Amino acid sequence: MSFEQGPIRPPSEASSLLIRVGRNCPWNKCTFCPVYKGRTFSRRSLEEVIVDIDEVADALEIVREEARKLDQSRPSPRLLTSFLRSSHAGSAMQAAAWWLLRGERTVFLQDADPLSMRTEKLEKVLRHLHRRLPGITRVTAYARTATLASRGPEKLRALRDAGLDRVHVGFESGSDAVLELVRKGATQARHVKGGRAAIEAGLELSAYLMPGLGGRALWKEHAVESARCVAAVEPHFTRLRSLAVVERAPLHEMVGRGFEPMGDDEVMRELRLFLENLEGVTTKLRSDHILNLLGDLEGDLPGDHQKLLDLVDSYLDLPEPDRFAYRLGRRAGLFRGLYEFGDPSKRARADALVDSVGGDPEAVDAACLELMGQWV
Ligand code: SF4
Repeated sequence: MSFEQGPIRPPSEASSLLIRVGRNCPWNKCTFCPVYKGRTFSRRSLEEVIVDIDEVADALEIVREEARKLDQSRPSPRLLTSFLRSSHAGSAMQAAAWWLLRGERTVFLQDADPLSMRTEKLEKVLRHLHRRLPGITRVTAYARTATLASRGPEKLRALRDAGLDRVHVGFESGSDAVLELVRKGATQARHVKGGRAAIEAGLELSAYLMPGLGGRALWKEHAVESARCVAAVEPHFTRLRSLAVVERAPLHEMVGRGFEPMGDDEVMRELRLFLENLEGVTTKLRSDHILNLLGDLEGDLPGDHQKLLDLVDSYLDLPEPDRFAYRLGRRAGLFRGLYEFGDPSKRARADALVDSVGGDPEAVDAACLELMGQWV
């Protein structure tokens, strides 16, 4: 048995300690998702997970002891960097030093659907985690709505009582047609049932939606039904993670054969329609993924409804050369959001990027797609 870490975590868990309770994805059929394709799902045993937690706890103690010897009340960044450099990549010591560097507060359970583990077993993992790492402020996990719905509020409440705080759930869309197209293995009704069960159990719900996922054929339905789904659930957080079709994902083979991806401006119009249909809904909208064109499209609904619409309109109202510069600059990592577009030096670099691809619409589209591929 050796310490394990899975490949991904949500952007909002960048500071979290990663504890792997299962390997890969039990569903693994979503056509837009390349992450676990070709990898087989397996559950890790309770003993394996407990050993990992113990290894991290022991590593933390070694680092703290070293800090005490150096008269440091907390391990200094320099000391932590030295542990990071001297430990093996992917080891418990590296995970512990990294976590200390990030403030040692939150934990994220991997991989795709930890709640598919038997509830009693996961309760034991959670209790052991809190026992060995006291002071944790938040424990989160990915979860499928099918799993949340089948567990129901009672079992989810048991996990809440054992120390699970939040679940990150990929709704992707509220449209049944889109969900079927991309083989999500869910329907709007399932999303609503699973999402409401989590909230009823006292868990925080972070729901992901994927702008662009309906393609040109289904964008309106995708926008309207996704808003309807969010309105029915009112997740604590609604997080955007825009579609990027990469070669490793099965959806790539459907391009031109039943699926037509949309350009950035079309996705922005879809987002506007989605937002229009969120009037009066309570949720915190977050745009914390680099694939989103507007990284600053964030606000707390219902209060910020008009502010969000205005931001989308600010982008759509830009003249075409400005939209080219913003898109390329954003995809190259120059702009965090539209608010940085006015920065003269960043703008100059974005203009240079447009010049470098020749400035015609097709060349800009192709360059943006290529740049987006690097973030997936
Ligand atoms: S999107 Fe989630 S549920 Fe779908 S295949 Fe990927 S990891 Fe599995």
